[in-house]
Amino acid sequence: MRRRDFLRGLGVGIGAVATGASPARTETRAATPPAIGGVIQTVRGPVPAAELGLTLPHEHVLVDFVGADQVSPARYDADRVFEAVLPPLRQAHELGVRALGECTPEFLGRDPRLLRRLGEATGLHLITNTGLYGVRQDKFLPPYAHTESAAQLAQRWGREFREGIAGTGIRPGFIKSGVDPEPALSATHRKLVTAAALTHRATGLAIAVHTGRGPGLAQLDILRENGVAASAFIWVHAQGARDDDLFAAAERGAWISLDGLNRNSLPRHRHLCVELRRRGHLGQILLSHDAGWFDPAKEGGGVFRPFDLLVPVFLPQLREAGFTADEIDLVTRINPARALAVRPV
Ligand SMILES: [Zn+2]
Repeated sequence: MRRRDFLRGLGVGIGAVATGASPARTETRAATPPAIGGVIQTVRGPVPAAELGLTLPHEHVLVDFVGADQVSPARYDADRVFEAVLPPLRQAHELGVRALGECTPEFLGRDPRLLRRLGEATGLHLITNTGLYGVRQDKFLPPYAHTESAAQLAQRWGREFREGIAGTGIRPGFIKSGVDPEPALSATHRKLVTAAALTHRATGLAIAVHTGRGPGLAQLDILRENGVAASAFIWVHAQGARDDDLFAAAERGAWISLDGLNRNSLPRHRHLCVELRRRGHLGQILLSHDAGWFDPAKEGGGVFRPFDLLVPVFLPQLREAGFTADEIDLVTRINPARALAVRPV
């Protein structure tokens, strides 16, 4: 009960606790921090979720938008990418970041070996993913995504979880997918979300879906039809959603990923943090930059956006807005650990 009291005191919503109690809408009170159970599957192996530390759950090291028909590790020199990405990752570590979710899916430049090298060099806990990304009218989907069933796709993703990715032995720490921002899901995108639900049931991996202003609530319906709780779902780029949609998703228990933190987005991010806190959903907020990345199509990889706004700029703004140290710890450390912890199945 002490853990439940703490979560309520921090305004943790219904999806973040085990049963369907009403979310608290009262002011914060001091209490014992919640235990963080389970493990995080990093590219260097499992880490107890409680030891993860301050986490940026949505960033990128490398992204190649060339499309599934042309994407290949032959399009870049991994040593060169390593040298380019090392300084911003080291800077993040100096700022206090200890873990980073690398959200580049397969067929967009996912490179687990590169991530493992970077994790070893920086000491950061880097987390990669399994799944397929349907955004931009399926440009990043391989042909088999159109012919295989949801169950077959889920088998592929489950195999990566059990055996590692493509012979590397590196296991994914979450499912990453993506859907277009249309009012309704396409048949293919429904299949991707269904496959993610089936994979979650087999593996316990969290489901992060690039959604933005797209159909997030419809995805929660698909999860429910497949016996998966809303608390397994991360609404990626939720800052781009209509407020009412993301508040409804929060009411249902989803994680709200406010991940596009940049100089221009600060007021929007601050507004959503304050409003979600007021509504009792502080325990469902995730904060990140969606920054990076080395782009093989650009000279020298293009301009790398660092991961340097959350800690020195945005967290002081939350403190100004009345967030306590415990609340900031919840949002930056406890929430990502709980969102990404692999659940027992
Ligand atoms: Zn992203």
